[in-house]
This record gives sequence, structure tokens and C-alpha cells, in this order.
Amino acid sequence: MVSSKLSARSRYVYSAIREDDDLADELRKAGKKVIKLSSGDPPVYFPTPKYVIDAYVEALRSGKTSYSRSQGVSELANAIINRYKVRYGIDLNDQDILVTSGVAEALTFLNSALVDYDDTAVILRPYYTQYPVAIRMFGGKFLLGSYDEANEWDIDLDGLARILRGRRRKPKYMLITNPNNPTGTVLSRRALEEVVEIANEHHILLISDEIYDEIVFEGSTFVSVGELARGLPHVILNGASKAFDATGFRIGYAVVPGVDAVSEELKHKIADYCRVRLCASTPAQYALAAAMNNRTAHEKAVGEMVGAIQRSVASAVKLLDENPHLTTVRPRGAFYIFPRIDMRSLKFKNDKEFVGSLLREKFVQTTRGSGFGAPNHFRIVSLAPVSIIEEAIGQVNDFCKEHSKSHH
Ligand code: PLP
Repeated sequence: MVSSKLSARSRYVYSAIREDDDLADELRKAGKKVIKLSSGDPPVYFPTPKYVIDAYVEALRSGKTSYSRSQGVSELANAIINRYKVRYGIDLNDQDILVTSGVAEALTFLNSALVDYDDTAVILRPYYTQYPVAIRMFGGKFLLGSYDEANEWDIDLDGLARILRGRRRKPKYMLITNPNNPTGTVLSRRALEEVVEIANEHHILLISDEIYDEIVFEGSTFVSVGELARGLPHVILNGASKAFDATGFRIGYAVVPGVDAVSEELKHKIADYCRVRLCASTPAQYALAAAMNNRTAHEKAVGEMVGAIQRSVASAVKLLDENPHLTTVRPRGAFYIFPRIDMRSLKFKNDKEFVGSLLREKFVQTTRGSGFGAPNHFRIVSLAPVSIIEEAIGQVNDFCKEHSKSHH
């Protein structure tokens, strides 16, 4: 037997979201039309707006192609400072902002900077797939809180208090996602206030992944942790991918507003991480800066996108509600739907088998809930136009009917 050269930790590096991509490609090669509802990638359906593309082209034409300041070009830092002032009334300065190659890289830096072997960090289930991987990559372990499905997936505050009570070694951080992937929840102000309180009481760094902060449906209000946690150590994550409809630019950022010792140490260390990897894409940073500064064009583009997403999500939920095997909490933002599967009424062992068969039989690609720490669910990305979404959910419903235990 050949002994493996791989590290033990590396076995946790895995993505459930992309696990069926090869199978989907094979089906396509065999001539099947696969509807892909598994990737949260807005530009696939909403071309990145022209004013953003123009800014990118202009950056290239004016020679913005060298390495840049490692923590981000000052034009982008200023645009971010302005964004947080205008949207949330938060005062930031240049040093609080660390530009990364996507939130993905910010998460890697944060975990590397904070987590030692055997440390813990709190994440909530269902979680975005990278979170547990990012902790375990650095030898840490996660403590699992949860979002409560019975309470529209808002935070289970009692559960959170329970996992922290009496713990001698404090978790290194607590990470929440608002609006949420995979549930589409916009967290309530009350829950957020309590989370800030809990973080304060236990002296835990609070990290809030707010990458969907502009994708909030009519009737819901988004509150940034930055508005509530003033004076306490916290980190806000955001970027170009979703609100600016530019996933492939690979630009994200961490905001570390505090002037306390924990925040100061952290922002300086993350800046070191930024320097070691040189910089994020220079032209893409200039493009995002220009996009952020062009508020009129941005508001129009994001408004149209959110309107279309909201219509797709509404038609999907309406059809899902007709399915007796599924129970769906209505999303309030982002572009994900996360139905619960009544597995006892279907001829499947688990959610993995459910999504695998759905792809093979109906050519609709979704993601299993167990990949987000929530078995017996599946995630639908609802970015496609209403007609495609209706066709796909129609297939999901036929599929459930055909595999119902009461079907003969
Ligand atoms: N955080 C959440 C909650 C996400 O859903 C995603 C992507 O889907 C990311 C982070 C990754 O973002 P980025 O493209 O900035 O790396």
C-alpha cells in the first residue's frame, strides 16, 4: 500500500456544491438539457452591468495592471468607507479595510490568523460550505449552533447560549451569515442584538458574512452587525460577487472597525497576510471602486436584479408549496430556497440520493442539505428567470410524485 503524502487535515477540504458537476457535464455530453440550480453565480443570468465592465476595461487601458497595495488600492478603500457611511452610518478608516480575493480568501486569512490546533469556533447550521472547511484546514474544530427552521430560520439563541455556557476555553470567533446561504433568511434585529450581547458577554469575536446585504426582498429589513456592535470587536465580510454581480472578479473585503486591542491586532495581522500574497487583482479592484462610486447606475442595476430574483423565488415557492413531500420556509433575501424533504414519504435513503436521482432522472441539478450540515433538505438556487424556474420545480414535483411511497 502506498502511504499518503497528504496531511490529515486536508481530508476535510471538499465542496458538496460542486460534487455533481461532473455527472451534469456527462449528461450534457449525452445530449440532455440540464438545468443547473446549484451555483450561486448571478452573472450567469444577469450579465455584469455595462458601467462595471467599462470601469474594468478603463482600468486595463490606463495600465492598472501592476501589483497594487496589498490591503487594497486606496480608491477602493475610499469607496468602501463611503459605502458603509452612506448605507449604515458607520465611520471607517483606511486601516479597517482589507481587500481580498473574494470573501473566500478573507475566511482563509481569518481562520489562519485566529485558529490554532484544537481551538474552536462557532458556526451555525445550516452553514455556508466553506466555513467548517476553513476552520478544519487550520486544525480547529467547530461548535455548532443553529438557525431555527420552526422560527423562519432565525438564530436559535437559547441553543447558542447553551453551547457557550461553562466553556473554559473560549471559542476564537462566532460566525453568522446575513442574509443567509442556504436558507435566504434575513436575520431579525432582535436576534442580532442578542448575538452581539452574547459575543460581548463571552468575549468572542463576532464575524458577520454580509455578502448578500443588498439582495433583500420587499418587506424585509437588513441590519448590519456593524450598526449594532459599535465598540466591540467584530468583522464584516462583503465583496463584489453578489451585490455587484461580479463573482469572477474575485474581489472581497473584510472590515474590522474596532479600535480595541483585539481588532487592532487582527487588522494588522490580516494586512500581513495580504502582503505575503502580494495583492488581489488590481484592475478588478479599480472596477469595483468605480462601480461603488457610481451610485445611480448601481442602484438601478441592483434594483432590477433583486426584482427579478424576487419574482423567481416567489414562483418557485408557490410551486414547492403544492408538493406534499416538501416544506419550505419563504426566503426574504439572497437567492436560495432550502426545502425540507419528508423523507419518510419518499423512496429515498437520504438527501444525497434525492438530489442524485433528481439530476439523473429529471436533469435538474441542486445541492444536498447535508452539505450545509442540514440533512433531509436540499438547496435550490433561484437566479434563473421564472420560466426556467417553473419548468425545473415542475420537474421536482413530478419527481417526488413518482417516488412517493404511495405511488404505484
Ligand atoms: N460567503 C457566502 C455566504 C457565500 O454564499 C459565498 C458564495 O456563494 C461566499 C462567501 C464566497 O464569496 P466570494 O465570491 O466573495 O469568495
